[in-house]
Amino acid sequence: MSKQLQAIRGMNDGLPEQTALWQWVESRIRKVVASFGYQEIRTPIVESTDLFKRSIGEATDIVEKEMYTFDDYGDSLTLRPEGTASCVRAGNQHGLLYNQQQRLWYMGPMFRHERPQKGRYRQFHQFGVETFGLSGPDIDIEVIMLSARLWREFGISNAVTLQLNSLGSPAARADYREALVAYLSAHEEQLDEDSKRRLKTNPLRVLDSKNPQVQALVKDAPVLLDYLDEESKQHFSELCERLSQLGIEFEVNPRLVRGLDYYNRTVFEWVTDKLGAQGTVLAGGRYDGLVEQLGGKPTPAVGFAMGLERLILMIETLQTAQVSNAAADVYVMPMGAEQFVYAMQVAEQMRAALPAVNVQLHCGGGNMKKQFKRADKIGARIGIVIGDSEAEARCVAVKPLRNQGEQQTISLADMPALVQQLLTA
Ligand code: ATP
Ligand code: MG
Repeated sequence: MSKQLQAIRGMNDGLPEQTALWQWVESRIRKVVASFGYQEIRTPIVESTDLFKRSIGEATDIVEKEMYTFDDYGDSLTLRPEGTASCVRAGNQHGLLYNQQQRLWYMGPMFRHERPQKGRYRQFHQFGVETFGLSGPDIDIEVIMLSARLWREFGISNAVTLQLNSLGSPAARADYREALVAYLSAHEEQLDEDSKRRLKTNPLRVLDSKNPQVQALVKDAPVLLDYLDEESKQHFSELCERLSQLGIEFEVNPRLVRGLDYYNRTVFEWVTDKLGAQGTVLAGGRYDGLVEQLGGKPTPAVGFAMGLERLILMIETLQTAQVSNAAADVYVMPMGAEQFVYAMQVAEQMRAALPAVNVQLHCGGGNMKKQFKRADKIGARIGIVIGDSEAEARCVAVKPLRNQGEQQTISLADMPALVQQLLTA
């Protein structure tokens, strides 16, 4: 026997027992974004490496060490590690952004070379929204409200909390950066190697170091909120005030800086203590400079991305969803090969009459005992038995499989109504 091949580490198969829950989650997300008037954008999984370097920033974890980059006959390409850069690239390329308002969403696989563990994979899936052309706190609030609606849809509102911060204008951030570098440099001996390196390349990232010793030092560091420009201060206080009026609880976290370079003003994360180290389920913020940075006309923007694996882990952990794994609701069983054609017609008629009902036709022959076993295995709730006499009389025998009453013989015309009634009973 030849050796079996395995999937790449950190890149998971979605097996039939899991895909029902995934589909349910995805369809609820689609419903929520549609209900807010957002439209889908689909971009390629591969983009030029430059796109991510220029948007995410050279001195970030993603660009420094997590990208899957390869040579494509002389061009450097990268598997997308996130969705925002691609949305902005596509928006610029197709003229969707300048002087317009857009509310967009996307969903799909992302790729990062990380150490695989619970809630952290090399191929993972993000759902995200990006809005363009709106600069006020009103739209920041809307995207936060949209995320809060998702938690309600999935029954996990009590398990997530909102953290907020403002990064201010680029100029304010530069002032702050100087003050932070001065403070950290004065205590450089207390920094670990990683933070020492970040101090040189991307000092704000020292703020979200996980090392307790660095965290202790960071506690007394200058605070970003003290350096905000007037307009950003106004934006942030309005944001906080309105969120409170809307009953959205939040915590201001002055050390929240986010790992990507393109953010300004509002940044936020929804975090949980249910997933161990991988506590951030959804993260986002404002990125007013990115469109211009990627060659477009200045356009304000705000959005977020959510990790679907982490969301699904939470739904499973908290058991807030009951999703059936049954392949079909109804199982159609021809007693012999002579009834096959009629049985196929019966199945087709039911599919046409009851589009929401899943109907599977038994294939592969075998006696009735075997067929009923199969119906049970796939989780069907109703069996349709077709013997000689049923085929002759153009009727069917409807057999409830889950204590919903006796078997009944019924005409084809009346079959859909009876099946519907039994399924909703
Ligand atoms: P982390 O700090 O956990 O590495 P991040 O800041 O790199 O997260 P973002 O780039 O903001 O994450 O991505 C948004 C969301 O996508 C995260 O909050 C998380 O839910 C999800 N996510 C990010 N990286 C991964 C991964 N490797 N595997 C699974 N989900 C991920
Ligand atoms: Mg990361």
